[in-house]
Amino acid sequence: MRGEIIAIGDELTTGQRLDTNTQWLASRLTDAGVHVLYHTTVADDLRANVDAFSAAISRADVVVTTGGLGPTADDLTRESMAAAAGVPLELDEVSLAKIQEMFASRGREMPERNRLQAMFPAGARPIGNEHGTAPGVAMSVDRPGQGPCSLFALPGVPAEMKPMWTDSVLPAIQTLQPAPRTIRHRRLKCFGVGESHLEQMMPELIARQREPLVGITVHKATITLRITASGADEAACRAAIAPTEDEIRQTLGALVFGEEDEELQHVVLRALASLGQTLAVWDAASDGLLVHWLAQADPNGEVVLSSEVTPRLQRGERAASSAAERLRADRGADLALVLARGEIDLPVESVVVAIAYEGGVRLRQIPNAVHPDINADRSAKLALNELRKRLMGAE
Ligand code: ATP
Ligand code: MG
Repeated sequence: MRGEIIAIGDELTTGQRLDTNTQWLASRLTDAGVHVLYHTTVADDLRANVDAFSAAISRADVVVTTGGLGPTADDLTRESMAAAAGVPLELDEVSLAKIQEMFASRGREMPERNRLQAMFPAGARPIGNEHGTAPGVAMSVDRPGQGPCSLFALPGVPAEMKPMWTDSVLPAIQTLQPAPRTIRHRRLKCFGVGESHLEQMMPELIARQREPLVGITVHKATITLRITASGADEAACRAAIAPTEDEIRQTLGALVFGEEDEELQHVVLRALASLGQTLAVWDAASDGLLVHWLAQADPNGEVVLSSEVTPRLQRGERAASSAAERLRADRGADLALVLARGEIDLPVESVVVAIAYEGGVRLRQIPNAVHPDINADRSAKLALNELRKRLMGAE
């Protein structure tokens, strides 16, 4: 089933408010097995709304809209829907009584214009709204030569829209599916190479037409591979995902560090905890990110005995190496991790990661000539990744 989402409102098209409803609905529609082909955003303008509804009806089988259901003159959703479907608006007495009751229960009389919220395109059904006055609108529009298009209009207020989706729209969409499909995702997190390099390592796995599909995204030097499978139920999805996950893990080896929401610090701290080892850290190259992440992931300092930002630490390998040994001895930790800036006279910018352990120091100078926006993140991740490799014995 092809899907489209229409977000309605001047506040969206003028840039005053970010359209978060579409993102929320898009992921839910996708999970329900609907292939979302279009996101449309339209101003509070009748002509533009009728055009948007007409286009959506012609090219999508399921259309979900948000906004424009209020009682004011700029709320045009009911009218546009009726016009695009070629039917008149009619009063629904049951909805009118409910709206009147809602006002009565708050000790207020219903303003005349709220009557509009009980007007529905002929043949449409109201969608109950327990958190506001405006009911939503559900209708099916016949299309010559193809099956009907199902339209669902929900209010713009997220706190009203979300329960209406869950209680009414999702169950309705599930009954429309010929064979209900479940969609499940699995994310594998990778660090240590660039996105294009990773793609080259597994060209078949990331082919567009593949089932299960493998998507690749990168955020601040961490690469996420997302495996998406559809099947009759959750177990079928899991069974479809498993061989693809195995293949990825075999191809990428130690480049895969975690899964789902895991970050490098979680993996490193878990490994240290299971080995019963403690850590001390000096950070002179990540603007404090390394220290911050470790503190968040180990708030009681069970593994990380101390971790400090040391901006005055000298650059280069020699300084980092002796700093790591000194730190380890001072703090009585099993391991000391020092992140420093590389030598200033090198051709490219770099960081130095020194790890002191019982009987030695592991030292790496790693080029880090990246965009300033990700420089600190990547530096901190390089340090954590070197420690991870040491703990895994993947040298
Ligand atoms: P109401 O009956 O409250 O007027 P409505 O259906 O007319 O509901 P709008 O007037 O379009 O909805 O929007 C009401 C409020 O909901 C907006 O001021 C905004 O705060 C929020 N909102 C609307 N659309 C979106 C959207 N796409 N994403 C996030 N928030 C939204
Ligand atoms: Mg409104």
